[in-house]
Amino acid sequence: MKARIPDNKSWAEERMEEIQKLMEHPLYADDKFSFRCKQCGGCCRDRNDILLSPFDICRIAKQLDILPGEVIYNYGYVYVGQMSKIPLVSLKMRADTNECPFLIDGRCKIQSGKPAVCALFPLGRFAANDGENDAKISYILQPVDCGAKDEEHTVREWMRGFNLEESEEFFFIWQDKAIKLSECMKKIIDDLPPRIQEMLINQITHFIYASYDVEKPLQPQLEKNYSNCEQLLTGIENTISEFLKEEVKDE
Ligand code: SF4
Ligand code: SF4
Repeated sequence: MKARIPDNKSWAEERMEEIQKLMEHPLYADDKFSFRCKQCGGCCRDRNDILLSPFDICRIAKQLDILPGEVIYNYGYVYVGQMSKIPLVSLKMRADTNECPFLIDGRCKIQSGKPAVCALFPLGRFAANDGENDAKISYILQPVDCGAKDEEHTVREWMRGFNLEESEEFFFIWQDKAIKLSECMKKIIDDLPPRIQEMLINQITHFIYASYDVEKPLQPQLEKNYSNCEQLLTGIENTISEFLKEEVKDE
C-alpha cells in the first residue's frame, strides 16, 4: 500500500477528488458491500496516513490501560496540518521496520480497539451536508486491490464487528469541532512567533486529544475541551488585535 503524507495540499486535493467521485455512490447503514480481509497485514506497513481522532486515542488507551497522553507520546506523531492548521495525530510506524507498532506476528494487537481508519477499511466515513438537509454520516467503498470479494456485509454489521456503532455520534461532533478549531487557528497561527506557536500547538493537542477520563462518556469531555481551546484562542486573538491597535497608535 502506498504511503502518503496526509493534509499537505496535493495530498488533500488528490484525496478530495477521489472522495468526491466515490461520494456519488454513498452507502448507508443497511447497504451491502462485498469484502473479506485476508489478514495479510499489508495495510499495517509503510503508512503515515492513519489519523487518530480523540475517540481512537481513548479507545486504544482503554484497551492498553494507559492514559490518552501516553498513547500520543508512545504511538503517535503530532504535526500541524498544512491546510487545517490544527494539530493532527497520526499513528507512528516503527523506525526499524516501518510497520505499525501494534502489528505483532502479523496480527493487530489491538484488534477490538483499533483506530476507525483501520477498522472501517475498505470503507471510508464522511459527514456531508447536501445544502438542504442537516449533515449526515455516510460511507464510501474504497477501491482496493487486496482481500477477496466473497463475503457480503451490511455497513451496520461491519461497524458492529469492531464495536464502532457508538463512534458515529462522536465522529459527527469531532468533525464539527475540528472545522471550527481550524477556522480559529487559521486566523492567528501565522501571526505568532515560532516559540508561541509551539506552545499553543502543545496546549491545543493536550486539550483536544489527551485530556479525557476514558472511563467516562467522551462526548461531554470533547465539548468541554473544545470550549477550553476556544477560550484560549479568543484570548490570543484579542491580545493580537490590542497589540496591532497599539502599533497603529504609535505610528
Ligand atoms: S485489509 Fe487488505 S491489506 Fe489489510 S490485512 Fe486485510 S487483505 Fe491485507
Ligand atoms: S492498528 Fe492494527 S490494523 Fe491498524 S495499522 Fe496497526 S496493526 Fe494494522
